Amino acid sequence: MIDKPQHAEMRQFAILDGNLQVAGIPLPRLAAQIGRTPFYAYDRGLLTQRIAQLRAILPHSVKLHYAIKANPMPAVVGHLAKLVDGLDVASGAELTMALNTGVAAREISFAGPGKQHAELRQALAAGVLINVESLREIRELAPLSAELGLPARVAVRVNPGFELKLSGMKMGGGPKQFGIDAECVPDALAEIGHLGLAFEGFHIFSGSQNLRPEAICDAQNKALALACELAAFAPSPVRVLNLGGGFGIPYFPGDQALDLAPIGANLQTLASVAQARLPQAELTLELGRYLVGEAGIYVCRVVDIKISRGQTFIVVDGGLHHHLAASGNFGQIIRKNYPVLIGNRADQTGPLASVVGPLCTPLDLLADNLPLGHAQPGDFVVVLQSGAYGPSASPQRFLSHPECAEVLVGLARA
Ligand SMILES: *Cc1c(COP(=O)(O)O)cnc(C)c1O
Repeated sequence: MIDKPQHAEMRQFAILDGNLQVAGIPLPRLAAQIGRTPFYAYDRGLLTQRIAQLRAILPHSVKLHYAIKANPMPAVVGHLAKLVDGLDVASGAELTMALNTGVAAREISFAGPGKQHAELRQALAAGVLINVESLREIRELAPLSAELGLPARVAVRVNPGFELKLSGMKMGGGPKQFGIDAECVPDALAEIGHLGLAFEGFHIFSGSQNLRPEAICDAQNKALALACELAAFAPSPVRVLNLGGGFGIPYFPGDQALDLAPIGANLQTLASVAQARLPQAELTLELGRYLVGEAGIYVCRVVDIKISRGQTFIVVDGGLHHHLAASGNFGQIIRKNYPVLIGNRADQTGPLASVVGPLCTPLDLLADNLPLGHAQPGDFVVVLQSGAYGPSASPQRFLSHPECAEVLVGLARA
């Protein structure tokens, strides 16, 4: 038995009479309203609150964008679109989704290492900022600009020589498929100028899921220094400097929530340095996970309890096909348990048990030996911290079980 459950630190969802509450609705009632399990539920109020927490520490001049790929549910994107300064997309379909929210094209940017010709054409026609990641993209945009009669708005995504230290997923430093290597950027800038594309700035993003403020500040400082160096080669003044995302959320025992205060203070300094050295530049953060991750839960129902040679297995109707990350197969090096509880017995603990899904693979494991052994068939197993990289980052078709439902809960107007 573990005396303190792992989710004890994660209090964003209240517990009343043993039931987890989502926007004030007890879980069994919410499940009845949805009419089926498994489902993801996102709390609108928590999304709003998270943006407010960030706004409180960010200098007014720093723009906050949402990276749609973290959670592309249209209702979530629609809600966040009203609260952030812009949206970042990573495919033609996400671009359509971003435009559907009514956010202006000038506030939308498009990144991704393999943009196809049709996507570049779509983005150019829409008038969004294209974060170019190769010479091929730059060269394809020139005839498209001529065809459509408007110069492509481009920012150069730079693969810096540094990386975000101790980041969950590295996206910069060393050889990478993302962006253009910093040392090749001067040539790319010359080409952009020569082809007459509308150069707007740089996108320098070096990692994801980082819980260390010093590392994030360090990467942001280096990104600004690099942008200042590269600006000397640019065909026109830098107007946007996108510092990327990378803000992490706690998932595992021992993880500490990210302390925003030092990041805010550092950004204040960076904003004044940028003001002096790149006077026309606007600093932007584009966050995915940090905006949505803690506002969502994944819920499935217990279908069977099996004891195999002394070990208890709680078998549920959901699993890795809906929530790959909780199974430990989305970027983790060593499998660790996400915070999991029995959502209708949240005030109890029991003997150790593992939660497994219906798939015919031992990888379909949602919790490994957590104190959940009091669960009964019909109970709700809840995975916290599930608002980011959930269903859209999971192999829903694997074994052809039904897809999960998704709901955004809570009033839009109080
Ligand atoms: C994935 C991604 C993000 C968001 O990353 P998080 O770690 O979820 O904040 C931001 N920008 C780009 C270009 C991305 O690909």
